Amino acid sequence: MPELNLKNINALILDMDGVIWRGQEPIGDLPQIFATIQQHGLGVVMATNNSTKTPPQYIERMAGYGVSLEAWQVVNSSEATAAYLHEKFPAGGPVYIVGEGGLFSTLEAQGFYHSETEALAVVAGLDKNLTYEKLMQANAFIRAGAIFVGTNPDRTFPTPNGQVPGAGVMLAAIEATSYVAPIVAGKPQTGMYALALQRLGVTAAETLVVGDRLETDIAGGQNIGAPTALVLSGVTTRAQATEWQPAPDLIADDLTTLLAMLTED
Ligand SMILES: [Mg+2]
Repeated sequence: MPELNLKNINALILDMDGVIWRGQEPIGDLPQIFATIQQHGLGVVMATNNSTKTPPQYIERMAGYGVSLEAWQVVNSSEATAAYLHEKFPAGGPVYIVGEGGLFSTLEAQGFYHSETEALAVVAGLDKNLTYEKLMQANAFIRAGAIFVGTNPDRTFPTPNGQVPGAGVMLAAIEATSYVAPIVAGKPQTGMYALALQRLGVTAAETLVVGDRLETDIAGGQNIGAPTALVLSGVTTRAQATEWQPAPDLIADDLTTLLAMLTED
């Protein structure tokens, strides 16, 4: 890997959970962090594997922390999933959704609707109301020929009370019963990052992908050919980070420290 020249970085793709906040708590002085990003002319998009909330909900949350962003500056795995389905089924149609509100509305915006009677695809994300009946229905549609698409593979996500079950658990349950592995839209696959680069109007080589999780954020950045930075404010310890191969280009305690490394003269 060629040595990373920080002067060549023109944009940031930031993970949210474990980078910008942990549960309900912001990590660092967010207004100052985003002011620094703007002062240095860096483009910024936030990209999250979380499929349960819509970009406007994240914008509102950031506004609550005193940071003003636009809806295009947030991409989530629901949008990447919807983009994938739209490519596959341009006319839209019925799908069976195992997920929460954000996934439903994002799919609806691309012409797909939830159906209990027919489905082109079973689409699964984090669903805190998962039931045995939903697993039965998803399994039946997949066995009848529906494709199986998952928003993101995260087995857990961090909260102030520790790691809790993530979308990967729903995907694994459906895979176990149907014997079909999902096509995954979110990190570490490249669909969501490709969408982010397109919106920023930059190449992967000039974009630093920042995240707290090695097997999704960092692997995804490496898969699309972007330099990567791991922050230790989320789920990964320094020992885990230094063992990971290929190594992230940078390791920093948190986003504040990382920005200081990026912007020092
Ligand atoms: Mg994270």
